[in-house]
Amino acid sequence: MKIQKILVANRGEIALRVLRTAREMGIKVVSIYAEDDKTLPHAMLADESYSLGSGALADTYLNQNKIIDIAKRSGADAIHPGYGFLSENAMFASTVEKAGIIFIGPTPDSITLMGDKSGSKKALEPLNIPMIPGYHGDNQDEAFLADQARKIGFPVLIKASAGGGGKGMRIVNQEEDLLESIRGAKSEGLKSFSNDRVLIEKYIVNPRHIEVQLMSDTHGNHLHFWERECSIQRRYQKIVEETPAPSMSQELREKICQTAVQISSGINYRGAGTVEFILTPKNEFYFLEMNTRLQVEHPVTEMVTGFDLVRFQIMVASGEKLPVKQADIKQKGHAIECRIYAEDPDQNFMPSIGKIEKIGTPTLRDVRLDCGFNDGAEVGVNYDPMLAKLIVWGKDRETSTSKTIQSLDDVLFLGVKTNRDYLKRILAHPAYAQGLTHTHFIPQYEADLKPKALRDDQLADLIAAFSLQGQTRSSATVGVVSHSTPWTTLTGFRN
Ligand code: ADP
Repeated sequence: MKIQKILVANRGEIALRVLRTAREMGIKVVSIYAEDDKTLPHAMLADESYSLGSGALADTYLNQNKIIDIAKRSGADAIHPGYGFLSENAMFASTVEKAGIIFIGPTPDSITLMGDKSGSKKALEPLNIPMIPGYHGDNQDEAFLADQARKIGFPVLIKASAGGGGKGMRIVNQEEDLLESIRGAKSEGLKSFSNDRVLIEKYIVNPRHIEVQLMSDTHGNHLHFWERECSIQRRYQKIVEETPAPSMSQELREKICQTAVQISSGINYRGAGTVEFILTPKNEFYFLEMNTRLQVEHPVTEMVTGFDLVRFQIMVASGEKLPVKQADIKQKGHAIECRIYAEDPDQNFMPSIGKIEKIGTPTLRDVRLDCGFNDGAEVGVNYDPMLAKLIVWGKDRETSTSKTIQSLDDVLFLGVKTNRDYLKRILAHPAYAQGLTHTHFIPQYEADLKPKALRDDQLADLIAAFSLQGQTRSSATVGVVSHSTPWTTLTGFRN
C-alpha cells in the first residue's frame, strides 16, 4: 500500500530526519509535541502538528492511546517511531497494526524476540552464531548463577536481560564481589526495566564494538549496509561512531556482515535493524544484541553507502521490494559521527541546561548536522541531553577526522555548555589517528582528554569576563544528574 501520510511518534532530530525523507517522497508528515516542545522545529515544520499536552513522558511521547488517536484523527496511514520512546515496544507496534495503521518497523514478534538479551541468544542458538562464553538460561537462582560465573572465569559481566543504555551491568573481577553484583544487577533490572532476569558473559578486556546495519524487505531480501565501529564510549554509551571500522581486514568485515545477515534471514526480519558484535583483540567476534529500529548513528552508513535508510524503511513498510542488490552496496570513503551533548566534561559531565541563544552550523562540504533545536530553544532535564549529531564524510579516515575536528569548531551552541571540545580532543588523540580504538579508550586516555590547564593570564582574563557577566548568565550547569527523569527508565536507544 502506498503510504500517503506518516505520523512521526518522536521529537527532535530524529523526527526531523524522518520528516525530510518523507517530504522527498511526497508523503505528508504529522508531528506530535509535548507543550514544552511547542516551538521546536519538529512541531513547526510538519504538515500538521498535534499537542500531546504536558506532564510526564507517560502522558506525552509515551502515551500510546493519545498517539494512536492522533494518527486516526489526522488520517495518517503509518507511524514511524524513530528511536527510543516507543520504537522497541512490541505492544505499541501491535496496537498500531490492530488499529489498521502501518508500523514502520519490524513485526511485534521480532521486537519481543530481540528485546531480551537472554531470549535473543537462545533464539539464535540453532543458527550457530558465535556467542560470548557465558550463561543465558532460565535458572535465576543466585547460587546457581554464581557457580556459572566461576565456571566462565573472572572477569565476568553480569547484565540485566531486559537492560539497555549500559544500565544494569556489573563487571566482577573477583569472587568476593560476585553475589553482591548479581543482586545489584537484578535489583537494577527490576527497578529500571521491571525485570530482574540476568545473564552472565565473559568480560572481554579492551574489545571493539562493531555493529552491522541491516535492512530486510517482505520479499525475502535480507541485505547488509556494512559495519560501523562504535568503540568510543563513555559509561557504555557511544559518543563517536565511524564507518568503515579502522584496522579491520576486508575478510573479517565480510565475515561479520555475513553473520549479521544470517541472523536477519534466520529470524525472517523486516525493516531496519542492527546487530551488535563485540570484537576481541584477537579478532574473534561475538553476538551482543540486536536493535530492532533505526540507530542514532545510522547517518554514517548513509554517507558512505549513499543510500537513504529511512526511505528504505518506508518502502519496506509499504510492501515494496528493496530497490538494491547486495553487490550494489559499497563503502565509499569514510564517515564519522560525533554526538553533541549538553553537558560539561570539565565538571564531571554534569548536564547543562538553559536557553540556546544561537546555533552555529557547519561550513565544509559533505558535512551534516542533524539537530532538532532552533535558536532560542530551552534545554531542560526532562529529555535526553543530546543536542545534535555532527556527521562528516571524507575520502579517507584521515580526511574525515581532520574535517570533523574543523567542523566541531563551527558547531556552537551558545548559551549551554557542550562536550564539543572534549570530542575534539578524542579525535585529535594519536591513538585515535592510528585506529587504536577500543571500548576503554576513554578511561585509558582520561588524563590526555582533560583540557590543558589554562595559563594564569588567560585565567585572569576569564575570571574578569565572568564576573562582568554576573548573574545575567542565561545558562547554568546544574548539579543534578537526571537520574530521576522518566527518560532514564527507557530502554537504551543510545546504544
Ligand atoms: P546495552 O544494551 O545496555 O547497550 P550491550 O550489551 O549492547 O548493552 O553492551 C553495551 C556495551 O558494553 C558494549 O558496546 C561494550 O562496550 C560493553 N560490553 C558489553 N558486553 C561486554 C562483554 N562481554 N565484555 C566487555 N564489554 C562488554
